[in-house]
Amino acid sequence: MPCLPAGVVLFERGWLSSNNLLLTDLRGTGPAALVDSGYCTHAAQTLALVDQALDGAPLDRLLNTHLHSDHCGGNAALQQRYPALQTAIPPGQAQAVRDWDAHALSYAPTGQLCPRFHFDSLLQPGQEVALGAGHWQVHAAPGHDPHAVLLFEPSWRLLVAGDALWHNGFGVVFPELEGASAFAEVGASLDLIERLAPATVVPGHGGAFDDVGPALERARRRLDGFVAAPRKHALYAAKVLLKFKLLELQSIPEAELLAWARRTPYFQTLHARHFTDAPMDAWGLALVEDLLRSGAAAREGTLLVNR
Ligand SMILES: [Zn+2]
Repeated sequence: MPCLPAGVVLFERGWLSSNNLLLTDLRGTGPAALVDSGYCTHAAQTLALVDQALDGAPLDRLLNTHLHSDHCGGNAALQQRYPALQTAIPPGQAQAVRDWDAHALSYAPTGQLCPRFHFDSLLQPGQEVALGAGHWQVHAAPGHDPHAVLLFEPSWRLLVAGDALWHNGFGVVFPELEGASAFAEVGASLDLIERLAPATVVPGHGGAFDDVGPALERARRRLDGFVAAPRKHALYAAKVLLKFKLLELQSIPEAELLAWARRTPYFQTLHARHFTDAPMDAWGLALVEDLLRSGAAAREGTLLVNR
């Protein structure tokens, strides 16, 4: 695991909650900023991590790389805990947040939870923001999410990539779930990352890494596979959404999970676009069997249990 600069603290979470990156100045006395806030069911842990790291001092700024539920699900709790907190979001969904449009914000179509929060300013691509001891460039990074941004600190060559690049791949390409094409944008965001030439990447999930070249190569190979066979991406996306729900609930009667999938819009569109060769229920069951086979879930009587 690469060393991060002084004043940069990574809370590596898991897959239900995105990572959180705490940025303070070198003495830890200036304004403190947090990038991304995790999933709402982990909000108490997010608050505890921030509180402990800041030793009771207030958090001043909160920024989101994008507004998926696992990246901003702790926003509301942080805003409540720190009344003077200034929250900045990427500009693309400003209106959707103002109106709290759960469809546009993906919480309704994914069947995921996200408590309502507000924002104070926008992270405009092209802008530079001073956070902690760094001066961060904001870059648009569409693909996984059309409105996502990256944060890049050029003197440290440190990139906060969100879900545009992981050590092994990248996040589900959400626009593709609605039938919009976005694989080209994923590729363009990988090209952007290559041009920025970061020495270290803090991904949205998983540990920080410094073997950026091989990670870009893996991501491009994965992308090529999806471009060649979009059904593969659709299957992957459906399994990710199902596993995410299981991560959230930890254990649920199998019939209930299948019923949840049946009424969740993204499962309906994925099925209708790619998997009509099997009825919805049989397809849902096949997804569960896949999770069992890969060890991502286990059956305990009528329950499905997260693994
Ligand atoms: Zn995401």
